[in-house]
Amino acid sequence: MTPVNRILVQQIMRDAILRCLPQSAPAALNPVAEAIHNSPAAARIKEEMIRVGKKLWERQYVDGNGGNISYRIGQEYVICTPTMCSKGDLAPEDLSLINMENARVCGDRPHTSEVLLHLEIYKAVPQARAVIHCHPPHATAYAITGLTPPGNVIPEQEVFVGPLAITPYETPGTKRFAETVLPYAQKHNTILLGNHGIVCWADTLTHAEWLVEIVDTYCRTIMLAQSLGPIKNIAADKVTDLLEIKKKLGFPDCRFTEQESAPAEPFLAMADVCRAGEPSAHGDGKEPVSQEQVEDLITKMTDQVMELLSKTE
Ligand SMILES: [Zn+2]
Repeated sequence: MTPVNRILVQQIMRDAILRCLPQSAPAALNPVAEAIHNSPAAARIKEEMIRVGKKLWERQYVDGNGGNISYRIGQEYVICTPTMCSKGDLAPEDLSLINMENARVCGDRPHTSEVLLHLEIYKAVPQARAVIHCHPPHATAYAITGLTPPGNVIPEQEVFVGPLAITPYETPGTKRFAETVLPYAQKHNTILLGNHGIVCWADTLTHAEWLVEIVDTYCRTIMLAQSLGPIKNIAADKVTDLLEIKKKLGFPDCRFTEQESAPAEPFLAMADVCRAGEPSAHGDGKEPVSQEQVEDLITKMTDQVMELLSKTE
């Protein structure tokens, strides 16, 4: 082998590696994201996501591959469920880490296209750490009629959810669909998606799943009550009491003023959940691969190819 051959091989390696850099093995090129994805905090969140997925499936809030779940870990990243997977069959390796621009940075399985909806909520509502989109039958029944259930009827609904908003229909998975929630996301933690289903956000995955349960049971109960006779409302002064409780708990409500709807501290507690897993306090996961790392990779691969060639001569 002459030195010229090595230079040629090195050039081929360089061209191939540089051509592949933006798309191939992003996790290996993003040590911050990799550290977060493999952190103990992420492992706990993935376990919780799997539990929540099972509950959604067992309660028939998702069918087939329907629904999707995500969790915002730190400021820059979101753990989310894959496309084409039953929420009753999730495994930790199915869950990907994406960034706030919807690019998958860790994980082998393509993530759900409907995560665009989740990302719009995370960007609009900083206190949202978990988002669930699903199709619970009773709430979805309202969503396909364009109706919302009457309010001020059951205390739990008023305190944890409140008046329901409903979005106009848009094609699922599109940016336009994702943006339909923007007028409502800050003042409603649960939104009916026109001709589709619902979306809920909360401080934890478990709490977001509770909201799904609360709203679907509420819609079902209203339907049952309406078949019996006129529904009685809770008295206005008693509703005021419920809203006072709601303010203390830090839940949003479209009946609150701007000052009243300031996020409560508990919502922010999980914001830095992954700090311990991050190798750098300043790392934002977007650092490009250094020239030194690229050159090191080219040299190592060239060495390996040269060694292989020398054996085949
Ligand atoms: Zn859907």
